[in-house]
Amino acid sequence: AKAIGRATFAFYTSELTDQAYQRLRIASELRYALENNQLRVFFQPVYSLTKERIVGCEALVRWLHPERGMISPADFIPIAEDSGLITNIDSWVLNTSCQQMKAWLDAGLDLKFVAVNVSSRLFSRIDFTEKVVEALAESQLDPSYLELEITESAVMDDVERADSLLNKLCDMNVRLALDDFGTGYSSLNRLKSLPVHKLKIDQSFVRNLPSDGSDAAIVRAIIALGFSMQLEIQAEGIETLEQAEFLRQSNCILAQGYFFGRPMPAAEFEQLIS
Ligand code: C2E
Ligand code: CA
Ligand code: CA
Ligand code: CA
Repeated sequence: AKAIGRATFAFYTSELTDQAYQRLRIASELRYALENNQLRVFFQPVYSLTKERIVGCEALVRWLHPERGMISPADFIPIAEDSGLITNIDSWVLNTSCQQMKAWLDAGLDLKFVAVNVSSRLFSRIDFTEKVVEALAESQLDPSYLELEITESAVMDDVERADSLLNKLCDMNVRLALDDFGTGYSSLNRLKSLPVHKLKIDQSFVRNLPSDGSDAAIVRAIIALGFSMQLEIQAEGIETLEQAEFLRQSNCILAQGYFFGRPMPAAEFEQLIS
């Protein structure tokens, strides 16, 4: 029994070491990727159900790995978060997105916003607002075209700091959206004082529309909440006409999902809207 115990122990340690080693290797490859132009920003259209056209987009990062091809953020964002690299990635995505949006506006494209994801790591950095100011200054983008997507966890940690930060960004005319709304721990009490312009209904509530009665009720309730609090509502993960129809009939204004367009390279997005 002792021998088996030892063998099992050895097996687990090597497995753990292996996993830790893998993450370390990916983190170092990712650092290299960032410095050597292997990251790309894709843009996913956001559609207005009332105007019946694309009004904005969300910037989503991709890793174009020379051997493994396109790697999705789900596979490297967690590692980037652990290693702290996420703040460099987010800053790069922010700069790239502001520059792209400025170029689109200069070219006469009728877009209202580009949305950029802000990780909790970046949000909690002392120089976060400076990074936003810098990206706007360097790109010359009018701040009202930039939307920052923050998560509930980022604004629940240090409420006072979060509110003063968000108020500062609001004063700069930057737009603020609460991402994955309904999946975190923020209470309605928190929402009441939170300076945001938009709630993004998480795709988990959209997936089983319109057949799932509870999801339908939740989505309608969030839309009503948004209306009475004068917040914009954007639903995510719309894949079918039925889902889009349900949302339109429920007075949801903004919609995002494969049904309207997948995340795509800038050139493709440009073709789609011009
Ligand atoms: P998210 O911010 O909630 O972004 C929406 C995700 O849903 C994207 O996945 C998008 O491609 C996917 N999606 C859009 N429409 C549909 C749909 O109709 N059906 C389904 N099944 N999925 C849809 P993606 O691009 O793989 O990104 C995953 C997550 O990685 C994002 O979730 C976000 O949390 C994170 N992420 C992506 N880019 C960045 C970034 O630049 N910075 C940070 N911090 N996080 C990022
Ligand atoms: Ca997002
Ligand atoms: Ca989301
Ligand atoms: Ca998400």
